[in-house]
Amino acid sequence: MDTKRYTVPAAEDILGQYYPVLDHGFVSLVDYMGSDESVEQAARVSYGAGTRKMSQTRGLVRYLRRHRHTTPSEMVEFKFHCAMPMFVARQWIRHRTASVNELSARYSLMPLLFYRPEEEHFALQSRSNKQGREGDARSEVYQEAISRWETMRTMAGESYAWMLEEDVAREIARIDLPISTYTQWYWKIDLHNLLHFLSLRVDQRAQWEIQEFARAIAGMVKRVAPLSYEAWVDYDLESRPLTRAEREVLSRLVESEDGELAARSGATVSADEMREAGLSPRESHELSEKLLAPERPDFELDLTRMRSAEVVAAEMYEAVPSDFD
Ligand SMILES: Cc1cc2nc3c(=O)[nH]c(=O)nc-3n(C[C@H](O)[C@H](O)[C@H](O)COP(=O)(O)OP(=O)(O)OC[C@H]3O[C@@H](n4cnc5c(N)ncnc54)[C@H](O)[C@@H]3O)c2cc1C
Repeated sequence: MDTKRYTVPAAEDILGQYYPVLDHGFVSLVDYMGSDESVEQAARVSYGAGTRKMSQTRGLVRYLRRHRHTTPSEMVEFKFHCAMPMFVARQWIRHRTASVNELSARYSLMPLLFYRPEEEHFALQSRSNKQGREGDARSEVYQEAISRWETMRTMAGESYAWMLEEDVAREIARIDLPISTYTQWYWKIDLHNLLHFLSLRVDQRAQWEIQEFARAIAGMVKRVAPLSYEAWVDYDLESRPLTRAEREVLSRLVESEDGELAARSGATVSADEMREAGLSPRESHELSEKLLAPERPDFELDLTRMRSAEVVAAEMYEAVPSDFD
């Protein structure tokens, strides 16, 4: 193991601190239970005596992840306090394997904090991916969008405050707040399901805004369970499963003997042969992408950005419509 790379500061360094995400959001690790050792301890129950070869924590953690033996990683729990725009919350809440308690806008006053994308993230509709963005929008369009957002948000915020003044119920007053409005929740999840969430949400196909939250959370997982984090990067995040047809064409190019790989002399697989093996043009393209050298992502947190709970609470408090505290 490259000890330098995986010598990480303890999770206690970030516990209860608030990591800013987007313009008004945050993720805070407020509590956790367990570590890589808890994964190992639980796994030993099933493997019992006679597995001394796997007794090294790292080896065992990696074996478990490689072989999809996931229940030991359910022994590690994380509790986060997060604030995110409502449209991000809608994507996030689809992950059903967590426990959530969200700010009640029926009971509480909503801080009037709205997400405003930075210009570099204000992009055009992707032509190739209907759920994506690509290419810069013109600066004038961005400026006009800001102006329109400001107009709508001011109107929505003023209507909200006016209804509260008129003693309209909070559950009614809030109904026209835009989905750019920040909400917040406590979110508790075990390591197994958290890694599944991260695999889906740090992925480039997820919306950039939720990726930002997932990246911050990945940095926190790295501190609590660095070996599980490392195994997740190696066996899940940067792994690409091969289909039957893909294995077939690759075996025509590469031979394996005695633990060594060698290129078969002069071997090639043409586009026609790929098709004959059962790969559609799209699958052939996907295979080429799978064979690109993988990246080694680094979700290390920039601790200089951490803020205290008091500073974050003050920002929220100031954004609540006045005279209603
Ligand atoms: C890029 C992207 C685009 C998406 N686009 C859309 C979209 O257009 N529309 C849309 O509605 N959703 C969309 N989603 C949400 C997606 O379909 C899933 O609902 C979401 O990612 C949660 O995944 P999950 O069910 O695996 O996670 P979790 O809810 O955390 O579940 C984890 C795992 O538990 C198991 N599980 C949980 N509940 C059940 C159950 N009831 N039955 C069987 N197994 C269960 C499954 O194995 C599941 O994978 C999108 C997600 C992503 C990442």
